[in-house]
Amino acid sequence: MENQIEVVDVVVVGGGGAGLAAAVASAVRGMKTVLLEKEPILGGTTRRSVGSFSAAGTRLQRRAGITDSPDDFKEDMVAFAPALASRDNSALRAMLAAEASVTLAWLEDLGVVFVGPFPEPPHRVSRMHNVIPNSQAYIDVLGSAARSFGVKIYLGAQVRSIIEDNGHVTGVRYSRSGGDEIAAVARRGVILASGDFSGNAELRKRYLEPAAASAIPVNSESNGDGFVMTKSLGAAQRNMDMIFGPQLRFPTSPKPGFTERLPKWKWVNRLGGLYMSKAPSWALKPLVTSLLITHMSPSESLFEEGAILVDLDGNLVTGKTPAAGLAMVRDSTGYIVFDDVVAKKFAAFPYFISTAPGIAYAYFADYSRGRPDLVHNGTSLEELGNTIGVPAAQLRMTAENLRQPPFHAMGPVRAMLTVTEGSLAVDTECRVLSEDGTPIEGLYAVGGIGQGGMMLKGHGLHIAWALTSGRIAGESAARREA
Ligand SMILES: Cc1cc2nc3c(=O)[nH]c(=O)nc-3n(C[C@H](O)[C@H](O)[C@H](O)COP(=O)(O)OP(=O)(O)OC[C@H]3O[C@@H](n4cnc5c(N)ncnc54)[C@H](O)[C@@H]3O)c2cc1C
Repeated sequence: MENQIEVVDVVVVGGGGAGLAAAVASAVRGMKTVLLEKEPILGGTTRRSVGSFSAAGTRLQRRAGITDSPDDFKEDMVAFAPALASRDNSALRAMLAAEASVTLAWLEDLGVVFVGPFPEPPHRVSRMHNVIPNSQAYIDVLGSAARSFGVKIYLGAQVRSIIEDNGHVTGVRYSRSGGDEIAAVARRGVILASGDFSGNAELRKRYLEPAAASAIPVNSESNGDGFVMTKSLGAAQRNMDMIFGPQLRFPTSPKPGFTERLPKWKWVNRLGGLYMSKAPSWALKPLVTSLLITHMSPSESLFEEGAILVDLDGNLVTGKTPAAGLAMVRDSTGYIVFDDVVAKKFAAFPYFISTAPGIAYAYFADYSRGRPDLVHNGTSLEELGNTIGVPAAQLRMTAENLRQPPFHAMGPVRAMLTVTEGSLAVDTECRVLSEDGTPIEGLYAVGGIGQGGMMLKGHGLHIAWALTSGRIAGESAARREA
């Protein structure tokens, strides 16, 4: 039963990066804006991300003497997954290539601090910018900008349905803490920014291949509400089967890392950015290594060099990729087990455990020091098995080819999904399209749910898209007649 109605210009569903960008862009144009976030805090997957943002033609590129263009950026993005080019959305990719640097400058003006750019082949020039001190900065800066421009932010507000009148979207119904339904009527538009569907087991099973469907989502709250709510409106969906992964990932550290402990004041971030732009690379090593051992996947070259992946019962994990194999076993969880020959090898380049490509590398000793929760040692395989809670007799049989004690295990390691790539079809104003290609009046989709069929392989493209599409949809809804 609906017992309250609030009438505004723009309603934003979801308070991750895309939703916050949309709310700021709409409110700054004088639009009365409400943002509804179902979780008790803002941030979604955006706050759980590394935070890299790729763009062409930025201030930091110019400062580094790099000349770049949207056309080159577009061409290089496609080179990350050339086999998928025929399924891509070229118009949206051109928009991303041209608009990402505008968004990055807009964020800098609002107070987000970036360092870089860093190289990432096949990009022909350095384009990866990294947010300082971490991705929470997007949420903090955009959240406070939104509030200062008058956006009403309701937390714990779950949108349950979209209100439609004769093919026009006019608002949403939501509830707070399981209370009565409230209607938020939007004179200019509803902007769906509810993220991807990696946390929805049923949708994963329906659309993804079995290994991806079984893997553990990084954000179990990404449960695809937007996809479910727009089905009855006839919104077209694109590339719902697409996924880059699953990937092997370690759990995040039980203790906050270096960057999580830094104060969140803007001037500290600015100072950090200045320091990082001037400091020699040796001085940055502790910071960058801390990021690698917190966020990055273990390299599959471990397995090429003799490490094995075992499940929680001590059995060998096999599959198309280690992560795909691990996804199919109990709890999609296991351990990387190796002997001291491998441990000694992974002490120097080119044998690293994780990397931010071209920027920095983390070795076994970095993990032993910085992530003791992930590194386990035993003078025998039995001792190691007992330490990690894997049946010792089975582990001894599975790992019989490992010869040189002491033996080591890294983990638990999980088969995880970062994000799903499937999305609603949208045009270059982020208006949601129906199957016949016409816009559904009053409905926009941005970020993960509004990827429009683009496949964003490569670092920094999802965030660039989330924040760019959010900004553009906010502007576009503000232009729409009430
Ligand atoms: C570990 C990890 C690292 C990553 N690192 C990077 C990186 O460095 N660079 C990069 O480009 N990309 C990265 N990504 C991907 C990137 O973070 C996401 O693609 C992007 O943040 C998506 O933003 P979004 O705003 O669309 O979704 P989200 O940030 O997930 O926001 C969606 C919000 O909507 C809310 N919501 C959902 N349903 C409802 C509802 N019914 N009612 C109200 N609210 C609702 C959710 O609670 C959530 O807060 C990473 C992803 C992961 C998991």
